[in-house]
Amino acid sequence: MSNTIERIKCLIIGSGPAGYTAAIYAARADLKPVMYTGMQMGGQLTTTTEVDNFPGYPKGTDGTAMMEDLKNQAERFGTDVRFGLITNVDFSKEVGGIHKVTVDESKIIEANSVIICTGATAKYLGIESEQRLIGGGVSACATCDGFFYRGQDVVVVGAGDTAAEEATYLANICKKVTLLVRKDYMRASKAMQHRVAKTKNLEVKFNTEIEEVLGENVVEGVRVFNNITGVKEVIDITGVFIAIGHKPNTDIFKGVLDMDETGYLITKGKSTKTNLPGVFAAGDVQDKEYRQAVTAAGTGCMAALDAERYLGALD
Ligand SMILES: Cc1cc2nc3c(=O)[nH]c(=O)nc-3n(C[C@H](O)[C@H](O)[C@H](O)COP(=O)(O)OP(=O)(O)OC[C@H]3O[C@@H](n4cnc5c(N)ncnc54)[C@H](O)[C@@H]3O)c2cc1C
Repeated sequence: MSNTIERIKCLIIGSGPAGYTAAIYAARADLKPVMYTGMQMGGQLTTTTEVDNFPGYPKGTDGTAMMEDLKNQAERFGTDVRFGLITNVDFSKEVGGIHKVTVDESKIIEANSVIICTGATAKYLGIESEQRLIGGGVSACATCDGFFYRGQDVVVVGAGDTAAEEATYLANICKKVTLLVRKDYMRASKAMQHRVAKTKNLEVKFNTEIEEVLGENVVEGVRVFNNITGVKEVIDITGVFIAIGHKPNTDIFKGVLDMDETGYLITKGKSTKTNLPGVFAAGDVQDKEYRQAVTAAGTGCMAALDAERYLGALD
């Protein structure tokens, strides 16, 4: 390990909508923020082509282009955007303490405040045809992409509350929704199961798994199989929504910051404060409820304001 040590006022970890918005606010407040982008520069939105619901883009925009706009805006006010992965943290428990963070297992950053915006990663099935068609009809976000499939037939994969929520949401805009459940029961709450059962254009297929997503460049159907009988069938659909959960990117904070049972960081009340002074969290890493770019950006703004107030009170 090299001994390079750098002291800064404000470190931002992650370059999704939360990170860049925090950067815009922190830079304008003269906190001279340094951002480490992580491996996915621009965050989750760089995996989608069309973003239609972010305010300020009346004609919609491309996810990668939008994140480039956010980066340019953050850099315009002096954010130092660097490519690198935070591999270890040693946060102080004292008010005014110095937080030590390791970048790429070599460089050490010492920061008076840290804003964590490491997001979450959608889980996929992992089969080749599914991976190939992400963005071509395979999505992990019905709220984001459902609109593009209005009036069409789609499948949703999953058995929990999120899958039930996504399936009933899609049933409002799509012609028919087929919910594929791997086991012979759903994990969703009774209330959500009831809502699924009441939705007329929503069919549930139990013991059913996807063998292959069909289509060259866009989804044209799925071949599914019954995991009890082995019987296969093709369902003609244009959209596949995978709703089997998300994993918050919080492994490096385990045992350091308070998190819930699924690994999401816990923030205090309506603030972005974590359990440690001077450490804040924004975006999907602390939000399993809304998971939208605009809500991530909103909490990114809050985190920068919280950091600014924290540092101001120390002076
Ligand atoms: C396919 C898809 C389509 C979507 N479409 C829409 C849409 O149309 N509209 C909408 O509002 N939302 C959409 N979303 C949801 C939206 O992308 C997320 O809500 C939003 O990106 C969350 O922003 P974030 O800043 O919290 O984190 P993310 O975008 O998840 O970014 C996390 C960042 O943290 C970085 N990182 C992680 N670990 C480390 C580390 N150890 N060190 C340094 N950096 C790290 C990553 O590299 C990344 O830059 C979509 C999501 C997906 C998957």
